[in-house]
Amino acid sequence: MDAERKGITGDLFAALTQPASSGVAKPPPAVAAKTPHLVPGKSPLNPLAAKPEPTVFGQPRPAPATPGAAAARPSRVAAPIRKLPAFFYRMPLRAQRGYLASDAIDRFPLTPSPAAFTMVAALMSALDGGAPSIVQRASQSLLGEVCRLLGVRPVRIEVRSVRPRNSRGELHGLFYPQAPTRTAAAGRSKGIAPTAGEPLIVLWTRTAQRHDVVKPRTYLRTLMHELGHYLDYSLLKLEDSYHSIGFYQRESFLVRTLFPGASSPPRPK
Ligand SMILES: [Zn+2]
Repeated sequence: MDAERKGITGDLFAALTQPASSGVAKPPPAVAAKTPHLVPGKSPLNPLAAKPEPTVFGQPRPAPATPGAAAARPSRVAAPIRKLPAFFYRMPLRAQRGYLASDAIDRFPLTPSPAAFTMVAALMSALDGGAPSIVQRASQSLLGEVCRLLGVRPVRIEVRSVRPRNSRGELHGLFYPQAPTRTAAAGRSKGIAPTAGEPLIVLWTRTAQRHDVVKPRTYLRTLMHELGHYLDYSLLKLEDSYHSIGFYQRESFLVRTLFPGASSPPRPK
């Protein structure tokens, strides 16, 4: 199963995200309310919400300084004073350091362009119909613009139709640090050609049970969540991408920065 490959950040069922080789006990969520990827009512505790996610990326390095963006520079000065999830104390020291590094950053140095706002609006319109190919184009444009503004390589996205599901919930999004060959081949046949081994985001436009088109703001938040995983590696140079509280703060930062009209976008349903 591709989703069991080491390094994939899955916002999907626990059964698929638990790395086969993982010796880490399944952690409880850091914050029970932050359960963006499971269907409400399925479980109040999302084991994915604070799951350590091993990756195959290299050594952590300091985030690059971005001239002119001092006000929005990630705050790295100190880990926030708050209760750490219980699983944190069971993690190896190296992983603990990575978790704290993630937790200490609450935003990205992003100042949105007029084009970015236009692209968000276009994406919202595309989601009215829910056609994956149209949503994918709009999503790719927005991702490309945000990545350009942040000075990182654009990340590919593949948009599919109906979310997969199991008894624990339904899959909202996936981030592959390195796209598997199969996914890359499927993309090529549709003309989007993600290259195997390159980062890839996968999102779905319709709910698993009723096949309703996902609410636009829900989709946007999921998109920003997966983009957040990509930016953890490409911009912040974190060794792993954890669902730390800082991670969710960065996700919210992206949503409110790019979609200021929605003061409090709902958590995905
Ligand atoms: Zn995630």
